[in-house]
Amino acid sequence: MELQDCLRMLNNCYTQDKEDKWKWLGKSSEAFSVSDMKDLLFDASNQVTNNPLNWSKWVPKKVMIFVWQANQNRIPTKMELSKRNVNVGSAICSLCSEGEESCDHLLNECAFAAHIWSAVSSWCKVSPIYAFSVPELLNVYKNVNLPKIKGNIFYGIILTTCWIIWKTRNECVFSSGILNVTKAVEEIKSCSFLWIKNRSPCKDLVWKEWTKCPL
Ligand SMILES: [Zn+2]
Repeated sequence: MELQDCLRMLNNCYTQDKEDKWKWLGKSSEAFSVSDMKDLLFDASNQVTNNPLNWSKWVPKKVMIFVWQANQNRIPTKMELSKRNVNVGSAICSLCSEGEESCDHLLNECAFAAHIWSAVSSWCKVSPIYAFSVPELLNVYKNVNLPKIKGNIFYGIILTTCWIIWKTRNECVFSSGILNVTKAVEEIKSCSFLWIKNRSPCKDLVWKEWTKCPL
């Protein structure tokens, strides 16, 4: 059977007496381009996960890459590491000591994350932010009836919040950091202000107004 399969595959191959060469089967031309490669990888990953992600340039790349990985459940949480036979001791969440530390737990279900999302929704004066999964969380901004620019600002704040929750978790795990919701929310406010003011067309943002309500 294997021989027949092999012969069938070889039947469609033609050889020529020429030197072998590499050919780029990318998108736009025969020339390799990093941009095409990035698009292909991004499309492929979105097709695999079926969780399209809106790539925002209003937050740093490191934040988008983290969120992109979280959207595919690929951040190194204790659950994911223990699945890969990494010895992490207990898989219990370091932030709440209740649930197991999965990506969805850390960013949605965790009591610490819930306090953060509650404070962020009050600050933004929107309905409570709540989701069952990371892809759902990253689409919450679409369900809030906001003009386009404000919707993008809100999305930037959600991305920043995911990043700060992960940063707080790392400080807790690796540096014995003390959990402080107020400090984390202040960091979300200042980072999102700095990033959005410098990276978006919204150059006229004012810190004093931002701290009252960013939308
Ligand atoms: Zn937790």
